[in-house]
Order: sequence, then structure tokens, then C-alpha cells
Amino acid sequence: MTANNNSINLSTRLQKVAAFLPNGANFADIGSDHAYLPCYVCLQDQTAHAIAGEVNEGPYYSALETVERYMFAKRIEVRLGNGLSVLQKDEVNQVVIAGMGGALIRTILDEGKQSLDTVQRIIAQPNIDERSVRYWFYENGYTISNEAILEENGHIYEIIVADRKADGSQYIPDLFEKQLLFGPILLNEKSDIFIQKWKHERNKRRRVLDEMKKATEKDKQKISAFEKELLWIEEVLGDDNSNPKS
Ligand code: SAM
Repeated sequence: MTANNNSINLSTRLQKVAAFLPNGANFADIGSDHAYLPCYVCLQDQTAHAIAGEVNEGPYYSALETVERYMFAKRIEVRLGNGLSVLQKDEVNQVVIAGMGGALIRTILDEGKQSLDTVQRIIAQPNIDERSVRYWFYENGYTISNEAILEENGHIYEIIVADRKADGSQYIPDLFEKQLLFGPILLNEKSDIFIQKWKHERNKRRRVLDEMKKATEKDKQKISAFEKELLWIEEVLGDDNSNPKS
């Protein structure tokens, strides 16, 4: 990440997140760290406004510094506080929560539900456990309108865009659990990066399963859950098991 006063060279991951915000966005970036994302968006779009939320003082002061450097104090408000508690009712139309684990994103959404009344779009970029974020959207009346998967610096990231329209039609009952795990849109697209991610996950799960089966005290429930998921992954990859290491 490099920045000067006219531009921000943002990570590809956060650029992709930003691309899912509409023109004239009025959004909150929760866990904003240096507030690079809201500053980048405001540099690109003169009509955008943001609230940058941070729970920790270090990143909060870094965010204040960045906003001051770009002279965006009138368009980006930096607030110190936990998750969505920094928001008043009806203040923003979009929320970004990026660069955290899925469980934390889910907790932030759950604890702050009452702040989401006017929020039309949530853009989540969980570093792990994307499934739990998708499940939260499913349970809370959001439909996944877009997903992206990308590789940067050796990491594969998923971005989940959820819009408030509770038709739930994207889920097919027989495929529901698979769609939650792989992502309904990513599963349809099966991009090269998606295949790369799930080959890696398949190999990792095979190793873990081997270890679990060797244990003296076997956790049969866990083993069977792992076996079920491994089978789904193999199906999605079109494995014929003739070349299990590929
Ligand atoms: N969003 C940026 C990104 O995607 O690059 C920063 C990600 S950084 C790894 C996670 C940030 O979230 C940290 O600055 C941390 O202080 C903040 N954070 C963690 N839990 C939080 C919470 N409950 N509410 C607000 N911020 C939180």
C-alpha cells in the first residue's frame, strides 16, 4: 500500500471491494484500520461519504491521520467503537467489513443488527470461514448478489456482496449446504482461482482426515462431517480419484 496526496495505491483485494460500492455511496467501513478504503473511494467519487469505524486506538488514530492528510474530514468521519455500534440509526446505505475472520464478521453483524435498517448492501471480505457469513445473510434477509475470488500475495480472498431482498431464490434445497460452503455464484462460475483454492483445501482436508483416523480416540462425528465435505469438494473438482494428488 502506498499513498500520496492525490492517489492511493490500494491492494487489489480492497479495490475489488470498492468496485462493489455504487456511485454516491454513503457507507461505513467497519474495521477500517488506516481508512485507506474510504479515502480511495472518496478520491474516485466526489459524491461519496463514509464513516470509518475502528475498535482499537492505534488504527483509529492512523485512520484520523489519513483522513486529515487527504483533507476528507467533511466526507469521512472516523469513529472509535466496537463494530456497528459506531453507527446511529439510518446513517449509511452500505456497510463494508473486510479483512477479518468470518466468525468475527458474523458477530459484528449480529450484534449490530439494529443499525442495519437502511443498509441496502453489505460487502464482506472474510479471510476465512466464508460459510458462516453466507449463512448469516441467508438467515437475515440478504441475498448474495455478487461474489468475487482473487489471489494476491499468495493468499486467496473471497468477497461476498449481499443485498437486502429476501427472496432466497438463489438457494436450491438439495444444494443448500454446498452453496453455503463454496458460494452460490462462485460455484456456478468455477473460475481458475476457485479451482486452485479448492484443490488446496481438498489436499489439506485429506491430510487432516488421515490424522483423525489414526488417532486413538476417534471423533466419529467430526470424521464423518469432514468426509462429507471432502466428497463435495471432490465432486466440485470433478475428481475421478485416479489421480488423488493432482
Ligand atoms: N479492513 C481493512 C482491510 O481489509 O485491509 C483492515 C483489516 S485489519 C486486518 C482488521 C481491522 O479491524 C483492525 O484494524 C482491527 O482493529 C479492526 N477490528 C477488529 N475487530 C473490530 C470490531 N469489532 N469493530 C471494529 N473494528 C474491529
